[in-house]
Amino acid sequence: GKGLAVFTSGGDSQGMNAAVRSVVRMGIYLGAKVYFIREGYQGMVDGGDNIEEANWSSVSSIIHKGGTIIGSARCMDFKQREGRLKAAFNLISRGITNLVVIGGDGSLTGANLFRQEWSSLLDELLKTNKITKDQREKYKYLHIAGMVGSIDNDFCGTDMTIGTDSALHRIIEAIDAIVSTAYSHQRTFIMEVMGRHCGYLAVVTALASEADFVFIPEAPPSVDWKNKLCNKLEQERKSGQRLNIIIVAEGAIDREGKPITAELVKKVVVDNLQQDTRITVLGHVQRGGSPSAFDRILGCRMGAEAVMALMEATPETEPCVVSLDGNQAVRLPLMECVRRTKAVSQAMADKNWDLAVQLRGRS
Ligand code: ADP
Repeated sequence: GKGLAVFTSGGDSQGMNAAVRSVVRMGIYLGAKVYFIREGYQGMVDGGDNIEEANWSSVSSIIHKGGTIIGSARCMDFKQREGRLKAAFNLISRGITNLVVIGGDGSLTGANLFRQEWSSLLDELLKTNKITKDQREKYKYLHIAGMVGSIDNDFCGTDMTIGTDSALHRIIEAIDAIVSTAYSHQRTFIMEVMGRHCGYLAVVTALASEADFVFIPEAPPSVDWKNKLCNKLEQERKSGQRLNIIIVAEGAIDREGKPITAELVKKVVVDNLQQDTRITVLGHVQRGGSPSAFDRILGCRMGAEAVMALMEATPETEPCVVSLDGNQAVRLPLMECVRRTKAVSQAMADKNWDLAVQLRGRS
């Protein structure tokens, strides 16, 4: 059977285990020899015990676990050709020419580069007698299928990334807990949620928690936001509301591109309204805990589709990223989605907010 390996790379997220499980079992079901690569690209470069054959039961009892049981890492070595050469050797020694990468846009970019270089890496391995002529011929094509694990929902092309829904559950639980205490004391509370370049978590949280105000990176508030914020909070209190909720995305900025932090928002509220104001920064709590039903099923579906893409691949098949499009798992060209995702960040850097929102809207 075909040699196929799965690894998780970059930041972890809930639901990655469901995806790993699905890849392993679908791979075995379709007759492939399936391997885990532990610790992301680092395990691929280092080889040895990091690359291990998986069997049906090695992925039992993991679907409910958060994080990723095969480990994830950032890896400087893989950014160098030397590291990728070692990785190619480690894969070929085991007959692996199919990769399922579960990570963010950085991890997918690395996989795409690896595939582009594959032929020249093999030539170099042959020249230095690390592999045989037969191996060079037998393993000449590398196939890649990606899926995005990220709580930020920051990838263009898919309606949802693996982990976002679970993170929202964590956030909403925390808000509900805080709301009950804030209500007793007539407080204003500010919650910072994750999302360095993407306001999805913040916007959805704000809608689901009846927040009074939300700050996100793609759509900075108008220049007079401080007045608007204070007027809104005051008006809500006057109308009998006992508490105010403000949601700040980690990457929120103003129209000049300067950060709008929870601390800054608190200072504005305290200086102008003298309200009792508290900040909660959720941090890694958002990535913790067990995956929601949605993320488990998303991981299962995407994993199965990724394996099918690899099994059906021909020499001409380009790397794909498995995406959710209107509740359908589909295969999209990997690099086009990465480029669109980077275009959103670029639009924000250029202060072209209309474009940023428009590009984000299609993700
Ligand atoms: P994410 O996948 O969550 O975006 P990173 O951007 O940190 O996270 O990427 C994870 C890993 O993928 C990096 O540590 C590196 O090993 C690999 N990687 C990222 N970008 C590249 C690249 N341009 N070339 C080669 N490898 C890369």
